[in-house]
Amino acid sequence: MKRRFRSTAAGQHRPVMLAEVLDVLRPRSGALVVDCTLGFGGHAEELLRRVGPEGRLIGLDVDRNHLESVREKLQQIGPNFELHHANYAGIEAILAGRAADAILADLGVSSMQIDDPQRGFSYARPGPLDMRMDQSRGRTLSGLLSSIDEEELQQALAELGDEPQAALIARAIVAARDQGAIETTAQLSDIVRHATGQSGPWRLHPERGKWNIHPAARTFQALRILLNRELANLAQLLRVLPNALAVGGRVALIAFHSGEDRLVKKAFQEGLRQAIYAKGSDECLRPSFQERGANPRSRSAKLRWAERGG
Ligand code: SAH
Repeated sequence: MKRRFRSTAAGQHRPVMLAEVLDVLRPRSGALVVDCTLGFGGHAEELLRRVGPEGRLIGLDVDRNHLESVREKLQQIGPNFELHHANYAGIEAILAGRAADAILADLGVSSMQIDDPQRGFSYARPGPLDMRMDQSRGRTLSGLLSSIDEEELQQALAELGDEPQAALIARAIVAARDQGAIETTAQLSDIVRHATGQSGPWRLHPERGKWNIHPAARTFQALRILLNRELANLAQLLRVLPNALAVGGRVALIAFHSGEDRLVKKAFQEGLRQAIYAKGSDECLRPSFQERGANPRSRSAKLRWAERGG
C-alpha cells in the first residue's frame, strides 16, 4: 500500500498562526516574553527578533531534545535569551518574580516528536511505546497500560480522544495486556484496528468529518494527553498565569483539542469577570484557509488571548 503520511523535517517546520500570535502579543522592543512551548523555536525566533537587544526571551520545553537545536537557532539572533528544561506548570518558579509582557503557549506535541519513531507517539511509525514528552521522568505508555484500570482507560479514550468505541477498545487493550506487555506502537495500533474491525487506507492528517481517520488515531491522542497529564498541566498554567504577567501584559494560547480549548475559554472568561484580565478574545481565532492548506498541523488550532488588568 502506498504510504500517504506527511511528515515535517525540522527545516520545514512552520509555526502555527505566527502572524496572529504577533498581532495579539505585540512584542515591543525591550519587552520580556515567555515562550512556554519552544518546540523548534519557530515562534521564539520571531519573538526574540521583535523584542530586540534590550528585550529578553525566556523559553521552556519539557522535551530536552528540543532545547539544543533551538539554542543554536536563537544565538543567530542575539544572546538575550534563556532556555529551561521545564514544565510550563512551573512558570512562576522560572520567572522568579519577573513579570512577563507577553506569554505564549502553543500546546500539544511537536512534529519532531510525532515523526521520530523512537519516541512512540505515532500509530503510523513502528517504535517503542514510550510517548513521554519528558523522557527524564515518569513511566512510559507501555508502563501505564500494564496497570491501568479498564474503566479509567475507557473514560480517557472517550473524554480525551472523543472515541465513540471507547468501551470496545478499552476491553481489547486490557485483554491484550493481560496476555503480555504492550511494548510497541505497532502492537497497540493492531489491537485497536482488530477491535474496531476497520480497514484502510487512512491518512495521517484527515480533514474533520472525513472517513479516512486511522482507527487508532483517537486512541493515541487520548493516551498521549493522559500519560503527559496535559490537561492538568494546562489547568495549572491557567491558574498561575495572572501572577506571571505584568499589568497590560498579554497571553496567547493555541489549543489543538476541544478539552484544552474549553479550559482556556473558561479561565479567560472567569478572569475577565473578576477583572483579573482587562481584555480578551470573545471568539477564538482560527488559522487562515491558506495556512490550513499549507500546514496540516494548524487545522485544528484555536487561538485565544487575554490582557492582564491593573
Ligand atoms: N511553537 C513551537 C512548536 C511547539 S510544539 C514552534 O513554533 O516551533 C509543542 C511543544 O510543547 C513540544 O515541544 C512539547 O514538548 C512542549 N510541551 C508540551 N507540554 C509542555 C509542558 N507542560 N511544559 C513545557 N513544554 C511542553
